[in-house]
Amino acid sequence: MDAEITIRVADDLLMFLPAARREPVRRVPYDGTSTLGHLVESLGVPLPEVGPMTVGGDPVDAAFRPRGGDEVLVGAVPRPQPVPPEPGRVSPRFLLDVHLGTLARRLRLLGLDTAYHNDMDDPALVVQANEERRVLLTQDRGLLRRRALWFGAYVRGSRPDDQLRDVLGRFAPVLRPWTRCTACNGGLVPVDKTEIERELAAGTRRSYDVYGRCERCGQVYWRGAHGDHLEEIVREATRLVADARGDGDAPDGAAGGTDRAGAAVSE
Ligand SMILES: [Zn+2]
Repeated sequence: MDAEITIRVADDLLMFLPAARREPVRRVPYDGTSTLGHLVESLGVPLPEVGPMTVGGDPVDAAFRPRGGDEVLVGAVPRPQPVPPEPGRVSPRFLLDVHLGTLARRLRLLGLDTAYHNDMDDPALVVQANEERRVLLTQDRGLLRRRALWFGAYVRGSRPDDQLRDVLGRFAPVLRPWTRCTACNGGLVPVDKTEIERELAAGTRRSYDVYGRCERCGQVYWRGAHGDHLEEIVREATRLVADARGDGDAPDGAAGGTDRAGAAVSE
């Protein structure tokens, strides 16, 4: 007789199960040799989304080999989820897959170091994420199943607002709004208005006072008419990160940003 094990999946992970079998408790046949990680993945849950797992109340990891009759609890990753810190960096760096361009620009608006290319294949994404220790953000489950990937996360939501909320709630990163070029991810440096005056249209010259320039691509930034929308994104993001950290106050450096020159021309 084939052995069976019982797997109970956290509510947050149910979305990864096939719609027809989306129930929290599953009994699965067990061959006696597969690891727990393999079993969970074969249900459809990518391992980067899996948090603590226990068997009979004892913590186990993905390499654990269950025995017939075991009951396994599979938790979701904790929120906020810690990322191994990099020397000299206060927040994780990110790499976004080709479908997340709008999310990439928003993360940059918030000052998060975010690499994005609209034409990179899966193996290249994994190589860059690993080499630069960037968290790979994607909605491609196959990409998250790649063994070589050091750190990945599935982005929930189809609208950029929801995606941003998901990423900020998951990592609660320290924000530095208005410090990064939304087009190329370069840092913005304050620039004197007189230096760039002749590059600007007369209307812009009259209406805007705060200037910044991307040190990488040269793009000039200002707080403009449609800046209101971006201000709202920054305000909401700052509030959300404070909530995710449970500190109620804006994290250091996250509020305002009026002391730094520069703002996104377009989102
Ligand atoms: Zn730039």
